[in-house]
Amino acid sequence: MSNFRGAVQSLAQFEDSELYDKLTRARREASTRPLGLVNKTFSLLQNAISLGSFGVLLVQFSPWALLVLVAGALPVFISEARFSGEAFRLFRWRSPHSRMQMYLETVLAREDSIKEVKLFGLESLFLQRYRAIFNRLFTEERRLTLRREGWGFALGLLGTLTFYAAYGWVVAETVMGRLTLGKMTMYLMVFKQGQSALSACLSAISGMYEDNLYLSNLYEYLEQPVEADTGTQTRGVSPGDGLRLEDVSFAYPGGREVLHGVSLHLVPGQSLALVGENGSGKTTLIKLLTRLYSPTRGRILLDGTDLRDWDAVALRERVGVIFQDFVRYQLPVGENLGVGDTHAFDDEARWEDAARYGMADDFIRQMPSGYHTQLGRWFKNGQELSGGQWQKIALSRAYMRENADILVLDEPTAAMDPAAEAEVFARFREHSRDRMTILISHRFSTVRSAEQILVMDSGRIIERGTHAELLAQNGRYAQLFRLQAKGYE
Ligand code: ADP
Repeated sequence: MSNFRGAVQSLAQFEDSELYDKLTRARREASTRPLGLVNKTFSLLQNAISLGSFGVLLVQFSPWALLVLVAGALPVFISEARFSGEAFRLFRWRSPHSRMQMYLETVLAREDSIKEVKLFGLESLFLQRYRAIFNRLFTEERRLTLRREGWGFALGLLGTLTFYAAYGWVVAETVMGRLTLGKMTMYLMVFKQGQSALSACLSAISGMYEDNLYLSNLYEYLEQPVEADTGTQTRGVSPGDGLRLEDVSFAYPGGREVLHGVSLHLVPGQSLALVGENGSGKTTLIKLLTRLYSPTRGRILLDGTDLRDWDAVALRERVGVIFQDFVRYQLPVGENLGVGDTHAFDDEARWEDAARYGMADDFIRQMPSGYHTQLGRWFKNGQELSGGQWQKIALSRAYMRENADILVLDEPTAAMDPAAEAEVFARFREHSRDRMTILISHRFSTVRSAEQILVMDSGRIIERGTHAELLAQNGRYAQLFRLQAKGYE
């Protein structure tokens, strides 16, 4: 990605397969083609100069000789240009298939998927699919290569024949006494050199044409409209107002509406819990709050200012989010916490504080190199953690964000045992007394202490209130609560 720093794509674009195709194509070739283009331009200039001087000499022998020279080289050039166009179309057609191939490779070779692949016996299934794609790509490629090389050979032969005909002509002129031996040698040389300069020129031109085709991929990618980050506000118009959603609806690009007219108000120091079935829109709501997406209708205000008017950096500094699918970086433990705040990425004292709040301190200390223990299996001496331990790391990461006054935990404790979860939340509340906290959990033992509970169903808020109020309403919340309580009896 370092090549494309100019184009920062939005999350929505990253969920679009066409963008991936463009990206794959741009990544594949764009790093070598520009340099190739420059080299070929120089080669073209150099050979054009030689060709000019040889041409002047050759015209003295006969202008027709010049024509023969061109006629010999042109067919190969035309066929090259034609086939490079075809090769390029093949390359474009391949990119979704190549991406599938890359994906299968990853699934088959990555430690995080291999467990399931092995247990479900998916190797041969995936390998078979991989082979099928490979064979298909290979067949297409072979067909093109055979045709390209076949024509190249035949037309090249034609060029060689013209070349020898010209040789014969020069020799015949000498035999007939119209040229001296010295001149003959010179013209033979000039003809030979002229031909190689001409074919070098033509192949530089067709190469430049080809490079240009591939570069068009890069331009196509770079021309993707990037959602303008126009917001500049670093403070809201009414500080302390907190977070407000006003009649917010949202549809993912190209999808149906998944949130319908959601409104809520959260003031600093308050905690909010979201409850609802899978797919009811809880995570989507969080994505909107963190401006990973913008509402399709309605608006979201932080301290009285629309999120869209906030400066992106200022806004992100105020929000700390741990998603259920948080990233498990293959980095030392300490840095896995440090990523929570780039300003304190390698601040060991801050790591330790955060780990204490997130209850990760104990097990980190027991690891072979403490906070410097490498995590993950990709690198030497990498240690693997249990799901619950990883979640403690993720939680501690949230505590790294000292300046964040909105903390969001999207089911980050599901892999912990209930006792650990209860303790985590007791601490969480303690450390976030004047912050706004938003919590998604399926455990009512955790949810019940939130000051505001929203029950979501199919993208709508169907009930809201405190635990006591919701129980008194005897609606969906009360029903789900009783169901879970029964499970524990
Ligand atoms: P929850 O967090 O409550 O389980 P989500 O907010 O993840 O629910 O999902 C709400 C709805 O949005 C679901 O119907 C899901 O299919 C859809 N959805 C979630 N993520 C995406 C996405 N990236 N693109 C399109 N649709 C999505």
